[in-house]
Amino acid sequence: MADILILVFVLLFLAVAYLVLCWLWSGTMTRASGYGELVYRGEKHRAHRLAYELHIGPIPAGLCVLHKCDVPHCVNPRHLFIGTNLDNVRDRDDKGRGLRRLTGGQVLIIRRMSGLQRNIAARFGISTSSVRDIKSRKTWAWLAP
Ligand SMILES: [Zn+2]
Repeated sequence: MADILILVFVLLFLAVAYLVLCWLWSGTMTRASGYGELVYRGEKHRAHRLAYELHIGPIPAGLCVLHKCDVPHCVNPRHLFIGTNLDNVRDRDDKGRGLRRLTGGQVLIIRRMSGLQRNIAARFGISTSSVRDIKSRKTWAWLAP
């Protein structure tokens, strides 16, 4: 009888873990943002987007897959939801992730700005290397366009 109770307890624990906990991607991750990444037929894919498509369905064109759990390399479909790029920016700003000194909106403005990087840097109170990294997508790579 005790054995059955232990078995039931273990199965319940596993079920809860399966449903509730993050499923952490253990493969390659993007350097800038920490998303799980894999190459399929020569193309790079974000693991959480594939997880969403496999478990839930197609991602509408132009929309992002966001994390409720705030763990970029989590691929638990229950932790994923669809949002716009703006939702993604707000979500990150609200959750305090990424580079703290700028908002996603400011990054988009910096990307569109022409002129000397040191002038842009002075205007936003950041370093010229930060401006260069933003423009080359070394940082904020997840933020389109
Ligand atoms: Zn998660």
